[in-house]
Amino acid sequence: MLLTISTTYQPATDLGYLLHKNPDKLQTFDLAFGQAQVFYPVATPELCTAALVLDINSVELARGKKGRQMPTLGDYVTDRPYAASSFLSVALAQVYRSALSGQCRDRAELAEQAIPLVAQIPVLPSKGRESFLRDLFAPLGYEIEVARLPLDPQFADWGNSSYFNLTLRHTLRLQELLSHLYVLIPVLDDHKHYYVNDEEITKLLRHGEGWLANHPLKAEITNRYLKRQRALTRDALAMLAPEEVAIDTEPEVTPEAIKISLNEQRLDAVIQVLKDQGVSRVMDLGCGEGRLLKKLAAESQFTEILGMDVTYRSIEAAQERVVNRLPAHLKHRLQLIQGSLTYRDDRLNGYDAATVIEVIEHMELDRLTAFARVLFGSARPKLVVLTTPNIEYNVNYPGLANGNLRHLDHRFEWTRAEFATWGKSIGENYSYGVEFRSIGDIDEIVGSPTQMAIFTLKNTK
Ligand code: SAH
Repeated sequence: MLLTISTTYQPATDLGYLLHKNPDKLQTFDLAFGQAQVFYPVATPELCTAALVLDINSVELARGKKGRQMPTLGDYVTDRPYAASSFLSVALAQVYRSALSGQCRDRAELAEQAIPLVAQIPVLPSKGRESFLRDLFAPLGYEIEVARLPLDPQFADWGNSSYFNLTLRHTLRLQELLSHLYVLIPVLDDHKHYYVNDEEITKLLRHGEGWLANHPLKAEITNRYLKRQRALTRDALAMLAPEEVAIDTEPEVTPEAIKISLNEQRLDAVIQVLKDQGVSRVMDLGCGEGRLLKKLAAESQFTEILGMDVTYRSIEAAQERVVNRLPAHLKHRLQLIQGSLTYRDDRLNGYDAATVIEVIEHMELDRLTAFARVLFGSARPKLVVLTTPNIEYNVNYPGLANGNLRHLDHRFEWTRAEFATWGKSIGENYSYGVEFRSIGDIDEIVGSPTQMAIFTLKNTK
């Protein structure tokens, strides 16, 4: 497995400082899964190339496989020693550790500088899709040269393999190049040789800093990087884009400077319903970073407020942004808990009202039954105020016309009719009256951007 990095920055041999590897020496590093060697096939003032060769011990790898009596032939004969994969990322992080973290001990200013760089990976897997490879690197500004490798050069009629020879050219900081490779190589391979847990989110955010949040494929990258573990992916995406994306405000900037954002209108509409109904004990379910909680805490009418969210990160953010900033005598009114709305939870019992603001569309459709059972069947507050986007209105957002949803984490968005059908069935099944309202500007044809349902518990004897 090979990765070369070249520069024509003058003097090109400064690459040695940047990588913290002397161009005159061959260096060898022992890794858990084999050996890495770094050497410079070319090192002139005009052009300098550093090669990282990874020698993976596939026999050891196969034998080391746990939970299996006998490794199979397939464990010995794999592409792992040849194709760029998560092994290469691990090697990058170890062998080019300081460069990957943007440090350059001897020439600190060099690391800060964008320089012409060329990276070449002769064997990169991409499940047969060249377009995906381009879609990953092009948004980062690379000039991409890619050639698909034949299955066997001696037998042309066997056709192509799903491996590519990739060359990337760009003028950027070496740290940026290494970070892109570190994250995107395992994404292309769509496999990781090690167990993926919360720590991987930290690594992804660290190496994705400054580029991943704006990458058009950030959801796909995150999903694959985290081995398609939904819970991890969702947490990572929430951290990458903590605010609802910009499109969740006005489609166009209007001349009225004081036009309140859709968000504000939504929260105000919800609070108005709670006030009209004389609510004093309220829980905000899926509270996120606590935008509604903050407004609720400012109103003396709400004497007991509970915020609940499934991600610990949201709870932390709400703690920091809302609870910690409240005057001491108000703090006791607000409580935060982590929990999931799809599991029965007795901590939700005994409140007058629940708000569920822009949350259901973040759940899988088939989990909504469980959600309804938990909230309307078990917790059963007298009032539930629930909002969700109206997908019909998306035609008014540039960029969403072709059926895209408003947020990458949305699993669905509903038309008014779909929302009404769902809301009415909840009403019938759980004995709630239901009323629907619009929030935001109303378009004659497609309605308003946000739709709200107000559920009121019927008096059952
Ligand atoms: N209500 C907030 C946040 C909306 S974003 C606001 O209007 O600003 C959706 C939130 O729902 C996220 O914080 C997400 O973590 C949370 N969420 C998604 N699924 C959930 C579940 N099953 N249980 C609890 N919270 C959930």
